[in-house]
Amino acid sequence: MKIATVLRDDDNTREVDRLLREKLRASSTRPFTLIENNGEEQPDLVLSIGGDGTLLEAVHQYGFSPSYVGIHTGHLGFYADWRPEELDDFVLALENVEPFIAEYPTVDCEFHKRDGEVLYKWALNEMVLRNNSLSTLVVAVYINGEEFETFRGDGLIVSSPSGSTAYNKAVNGAIVHPSLEGIQLSEIASINNQTYRTINSSLVLPKHHQVELIMMNPEVMIGLDREQAVWTDIRSIVCVVGQNKVKFARYKKLPFWGRVRKSFITG
Ligand code: NAD
Repeated sequence: MKIATVLRDDDNTREVDRLLREKLRASSTRPFTLIENNGEEQPDLVLSIGGDGTLLEAVHQYGFSPSYVGIHTGHLGFYADWRPEELDDFVLALENVEPFIAEYPTVDCEFHKRDGEVLYKWALNEMVLRNNSLSTLVVAVYINGEEFETFRGDGLIVSSPSGSTAYNKAVNGAIVHPSLEGIQLSEIASINNQTYRTINSSLVLPKHHQVELIMMNPEVMIGLDREQAVWTDIRSIVCVVGQNKVKFARYKKLPFWGRVRKSFITG
């Protein structure tokens, strides 16, 4: 089994990586080959050691072909299954357990630039659109080609099911189980008064539906998971349920609702 690791940049995480590599090399039951990210070899399994942000980084680095496992070295992460104290159990599981592969849907986004160029990007958590200043973001929202509303406020989030527990949750969006292939459009501080009106609820769209956001501001801030940038030349963004899913290798049982409970209620 070819294994790659992606690390958060801190001493504790590097030490956990060192210990884990030692244990994997010492394994006599199964050959594990540790590979580096040199673009030549594709790993079968990517171990993200750090937090949820590290996992997001790993997924954007290696894409949809390998499976992922998260080991958390900070506070409990949503995507991470293992703690550093459990490295021996983890290696035992790698040697002996056939993992369940949980597949999490993504969000696919087309960015239509004013000059006609189209860029394709995807997110595991979400695409966030905000104004690049304190003034109001104004966006014409179309659903499946039909005008839906004009949004005025701080921003809009289009999240995946697994991203529904991240930024989307902080703006009171619903938590969606990742077996439901959908995207969720949520508002950040919409203006609702006698003059301006939005739906003021999160919308969950199924596969094959699309949401189109047409910019009225000259300059916007766009976030895709960890990546963020200011754009001056975007005319519209079209989001749909992603064509590809991210695969998580589950070597121990932690169903989605248990994960939600552990992350937000019990710790
Ligand atoms: P970060 O270090 O600021 O992390 C933000 C928090 O989001 C961390 O506690 C992380 O554990 C948590 N998180 C990330 N993905 C999650 C998920 N799917 N479910 C539950 N919690 C999750 O930033 P980062 O590590 O670079 O992570 C980027 C993510 O941060 C973005 O994808 C976005 O969802 C999230 N974020 C949240 C808010 C908010 O809640 N107000 C604001 C900005 C960004």
